[in-house]
Amino acid sequence: MTVNSLQFEVDRVSSPKSEDISASPATHIILRNTMRGVIMSPVKVEIGVRFGRLTVIAKAASRGDRRGRSVCLCDCGKTKVIMNQHLNRKPPATVSCGCVSIENAKKLEWHGTHGHSAGGKQSPTYYSWSAMTYRCSNPNHKYYSRYGGRGITVCDRWKSFENFLLDMGERPDGKTLDRIDGKKGYCPENCKWSTPKEQQRNRENNSLVTYKGKTFCVSEWAERIGMKCSTLRERFNRGWSIKDALIKPVKRVL
Ligand SMILES: [Zn+2]
Repeated sequence: MTVNSLQFEVDRVSSPKSEDISASPATHIILRNTMRGVIMSPVKVEIGVRFGRLTVIAKAASRGDRRGRSVCLCDCGKTKVIMNQHLNRKPPATVSCGCVSIENAKKLEWHGTHGHSAGGKQSPTYYSWSAMTYRCSNPNHKYYSRYGGRGITVCDRWKSFENFLLDMGERPDGKTLDRIDGKKGYCPENCKWSTPKEQQRNRENNSLVTYKGKTFCVSEWAERIGMKCSTLRERFNRGWSIKDALIKPVKRVL
């Protein structure tokens, strides 16, 4: 494919609003790198040069800063504008349009490390970790809308399976990963291994309670009426009516 036909391809696929592509096949090299400790590749960012799956096909228009950007065509067919300094460091910080990360997430679902995935079989702990990662980060996951889609995230520390294992220990038989507060994400403070029964109870505690036309979750009700959250939860767990649970005075043990 010639540069001209690539150029045509770019003009056709990218929105003129977001990317005004300059036709000049100028060489744009990062002469100075402001990030310390990054080794720059001697490879020039110019049309036709490949970085991972990306091939530089045009120089992107300036966005008002001094950073050079290039329009790149990924092997998967997508085009993306990428900062040159992310391409010509060693190894490049960006090697695809984003499709590599998605593929890696899928691989993680199936292949583990550190003895937690032997002979194609995953340990229960590894399975929990990868399933958590997947449903929070991959829009293709069946339940993404209930997790990543509504802002439930995995803390940075748990991006590594080793840290997750250190914090949570091996998954006990019959238990699964449970979040204590359903509105918060996956992190050491908010997670425990629970039996299905405990999980169910937890879900009930996070469920919404309506009284006199006002709806809040249990912890918020507790805050509003000045009761300990654990006390209110216990009342619901014992099957108290909403009215009783919210208004009956707490007996103080002296
Ligand atoms: Zn791609």
